Parts: sequence; structure tokens; C-alpha cells
Amino acid sequence: MSFKEEVLKRLQLSKTEVVQGICPTCAERTMLISLTKEIYRCITCGGDLRQYINGKISYIPTTDMQKDNLSGEKV
Ligand SMILES: [Zn+2]
Repeated sequence: MSFKEEVLKRLQLSKTEVVQGICPTCAERTMLISLTKEIYRCITCGGDLRQYINGKISYIPTTDMQKDNLSGEKV
């Protein structure tokens, strides 16, 4: 199952929140899926992002969690 299929299935099964944003990892305007209240995942590159609020919302790559998964998953 591809990552996007997994995301779509997860969306059907749960109340996962989806936001639009610019992913700092792949620099694409994309959809971000909430995994927890503050962790979001980019559907383009699969990178996990931490939501960081300081007057405006921005996203920070959680690269330590994802290093091994960032290669090759681009669909
Ligand atoms: Zn991305």
C-alpha cells in the first residue's frame, strides 16, 4: 500500500484533521495530516512536521524521527 493510499484509508476511518500548508522538507504546498495535536505529516514527501505557533503557525521538520524514511517514497 502506498503512503497516499494509507492516508486516504486513515481519513475514511478516523477524524484525522487535514490542513493545507507549505512543507519545509519538500517545499511544496501540500496537505498535512495531523497525527497528534502538534505533529503533522506531509502527504507529498511523508515527512513529519511539528506545528510551531509563535504568532503564526509554522512547521518544523522532525528529521530525527524520519531520516530513514525520506528516501524513495516519492510517488
Ligand atoms: Zn513534504
